Amino acid sequence: MLINEIFHSIQGEGKLAGVPSVFVRTTGCNLRCHWCDSPTTSWSPQGDEMSIEQILENVASFGCKHVVLTGGEPMIAIGVELLTAALRQLSYHVTIETAATVWKDVVFDLASISPKLSHSTPSKDLDAAWSPRHELRRIDVDTIRQFMDAGDYQLKFVIDKQDDLEEVQALIQRLGQVRSSDVLLMPQGVIKKELDEKATWLAKICKNLGYRFCPRIHIDLYGHTPGT
Ligand code: SF4
Repeated sequence: MLINEIFHSIQGEGKLAGVPSVFVRTTGCNLRCHWCDSPTTSWSPQGDEMSIEQILENVASFGCKHVVLTGGEPMIAIGVELLTAALRQLSYHVTIETAATVWKDVVFDLASISPKLSHSTPSKDLDAAWSPRHELRRIDVDTIRQFMDAGDYQLKFVIDKQDDLEEVQALIQRLGQVRSSDVLLMPQGVIKKELDEKATWLAKICKNLGYRFCPRIHIDLYGHTPGT
C-alpha cells in the first residue's frame, strides 16, 4: 500500500475532535479539489510502499487505540479492506476519512464522509483533463448511502461561501433519513485568519439549521503542517 505519512496527533475535525489518534495517510486520489489541503496525495502524489505488517507495526509504536485512515482517498488504496480488518481485529477504533465515491468491503467504527461540493472542481485553465473528471466523480449518492448504512458516520461538508448551503441541502434531501446531528459544516481554509472569518457566518447557519459547526483544531494547534 502506498503511504504518504503515518503520524500521531490530535484529531482536529468532527465528532472525535480532540481525541489523540494515529493518522495513516494513503497516497493517491480519484479527485482533484483545487483547494486540496494534502496535495502530496493528489496533485503531486508522494509515498512509499508499505506492507500491512509494516503499517501495523508503525501504528503500534505510538501506543494509541484510535486510528484514522485518511488520504488522498484511502478507498482506492490497494489492500484497504485487509488493513481495516487487521486494525479492527487488534481492537483499534477505526475512522475512515473519505469522499465516498468508491466502495470496498471495509470495516470501520466511524465513516467521516466528506462529499465534495461544486466549489472543489478545478477550472479548465488549472487542469483541462481533471476539471471534467473531478466534476463527474465528486458526488456518488449510492456510495455515500452505502457508507451511511454500514455503520456510524458523519457527513462533513467543506463550506467556502454561504451559497454552498443550497447544494448541501439538496444532497441531504437526495440521501434521505439524515440526522442533523450527523451533519457537520466546516469552513474551507488552512489559515487561521481565513477560518475565523468564515466561522462567524457559518456558526450562525449551523444554529439556524441544527447542524454541527466543525472547527479545525489541528490548524489552531499546529498551523498547516505535515505530520500534524
Ligand atoms: S478528495 Fe481530499 S485528497 Fe482528494 S483532492 Fe479532494 S481534498 Fe485532496
